Amino acid sequence: MKDSRPVLAIDIGGTKFAAGVAEPGGRLIAWAQTPTPRDLDSEQLWRTLDTLLTRVLASAGIAAADLAGVGCGCGGPMEWPAGLVSPLNIPAWREFPLRGRLAGRFGGIPVRVHNDAICMVAAEHWRGAGRGRSNVLGIVVSTGVGGGLLLDGRLIAGASGNAGHIGHVVVDPEDGPPCVCGGRGCLEAVARGPALVSWAQGEGWRPGQGDATAKDLADDGAQGHPVGRAAMRRAGRALGIAIASATHLCDLEVVSVGGGLSQAGAMLFDPLEEALRTHARLEFARQVRVVAAALGQSAGLVGAAALIFKPKRYWSGD
Ligand SMILES: [Zn+2]
Repeated sequence: MKDSRPVLAIDIGGTKFAAGVAEPGGRLIAWAQTPTPRDLDSEQLWRTLDTLLTRVLASAGIAAADLAGVGCGCGGPMEWPAGLVSPLNIPAWREFPLRGRLAGRFGGIPVRVHNDAICMVAAEHWRGAGRGRSNVLGIVVSTGVGGGLLLDGRLIAGASGNAGHIGHVVVDPEDGPPCVCGGRGCLEAVARGPALVSWAQGEGWRPGQGDATAKDLADDGAQGHPVGRAAMRRAGRALGIAIASATHLCDLEVVSVGGGLSQAGAMLFDPLEEALRTHARLEFARQVRVVAAALGQSAGLVGAAALIFKPKRYWSGD
């Protein structure tokens, strides 16, 4: 008999905690979110999450006993598959045993935790822009640059669950900015939102109210501001170079680009394509297609659900 039980999906990031109840096809029948609390200790954060989960299950009319499992995406780094999480943007959790705590809360059913970027990529492959393709790289450009890699139809974990870290592929070793990883000129160091903002400010861009974001920069670019346009070109070019390298290495069919910056449209994707076509010269590499991610805000939850619904493709942790 086909299992029709729903999955509880969780997405934990530096700006919000989100949770949803997903059907086997990936549709969310209920979801809720709360801003990631600041200035709370580790246990208080856990209670915030626990309350959110109780609330979303109640709104879906689902008892914990009716679930097929719990899938969770969380900001990295993490010890995988053990699920000890130390999200860069959530300082209160350092080696917090998220998978173990969830397993304790929902005793007996499968509980799986993976990197949030990996979950978004799984979602794009399962239900989004990578659907029907077997060799897909997904990139998520926001405050960092994350990614995940599917080859021969399966998510690749690597030795420690970290395969697909496209953000730290080097695109400009000589003149690129220093990276949070300690290196220089990584894709992330060039193209992450805060890096673009500080580059643009160095070029004389002066944002309006409040803290400047890459979205303000993209909006100004869309209005014709030359530094805004140049910043999108800078990010697009870096992405194109990294994608060319990844394509040659992995013989990719499709690369999906998601995250806030992917909303910038042609301003980002035209220079990306130009750099990609400059550097992807071999016949097989010229076939790769780069597309904007198709799933919006829900991708993290859909991908977390995929860890439970489609383990043959998206979970090799145990
Ligand atoms: Zn780096």
